Amino acid sequence: DPVLRLSGVSKDYNHGLPSEVQVLRGVDLAVRPGEVVALVAPSGAGKSTLLHIAGLLDTPDEGQVAIAGEDMTGIGDRRRTAVRRADVGFVYQFHHLLPEFTALENIVLPQLADGTARAEAESRARALLDSVGVAARADHRPAALSGGEQQRVAFCRAMANRPRLLLADEPTGNLDPDTSDRVFAGLLDLVRDTGLAALIATHNLELAARMDRRVTLDQGHVTPD
Ligand code: ADP
Ligand code: ADP
Repeated sequence: DPVLRLSGVSKDYNHGLPSEVQVLRGVDLAVRPGEVVALVAPSGAGKSTLLHIAGLLDTPDEGQVAIAGEDMTGIGDRRRTAVRRADVGFVYQFHHLLPEFTALENIVLPQLADGTARAEAESRARALLDSVGVAARADHRPAALSGGEQQRVAFCRAMANRPRLLLADEPTGNLDPDTSDRVFAGLLDLVRDTGLAALIATHNLELAARMDRRVTLDQGHVTPD
């Protein structure tokens, strides 16, 4: 089974009023375990909408979303939240780390919320920070970190609960090109080591070229390159 499957997913923000632009029109997309897929789309094409639907933060008007083979159509809020927390990790363009907590605590807290014991949560957080080269920054707050380091910590936080699916929206979009390259290479290594499925939105074609497969979102349709 693919980790993520979208079948005939449509979304329109105009709630039935006649509109020229339907954001998503019958999108079909599957992402399998261990696969890193680039979602390439111009700004405004509906990347965020697609990622929110894939990550169970929003629901489609039509079509189905399945996570690890489980159809999410018509499922209760409690189950949706449970699946999202257990199976999906998000990385955004801006890090959204909690400013009053250290890098380590930002990665530990979601694990505690999920029932992991503190000792195990800390050791997993340290291992993650180490794997992306920011172990020395564990006890610093986000404001003391560079942009690249902040994004690496945000990525570790997304991975902390061992999701099956990683969704990223322009994860290096706010970094300068050199930093973006280095950070992205580290993230790709970590994703490949863990074997999870990743869907990474970017309009950077060089970054997209380094992923396993590319799909384009345009005029509401997703097509393979
Ligand atoms: P992208 O992430 O590719 O820039 P979005 O998914 O954010 O695109 O938005 C796609 C289109 O849907 C845009 O035209 C945007 O203005 C519109 N849109 C997004 N969210 C909403 C919303 N909550 N209500 C109305 N229109 C929205
Ligand atoms: P990057 O190449 O990752 O963007 P920078 O060149 O911005 O890194 O920063 C280089 C080093 O300086 C990093 O180790 C970073 O943690 C540190 N640094 C940057 N800003 C601050 C700050 N405000 N306080 C403490 N250390 C900082």
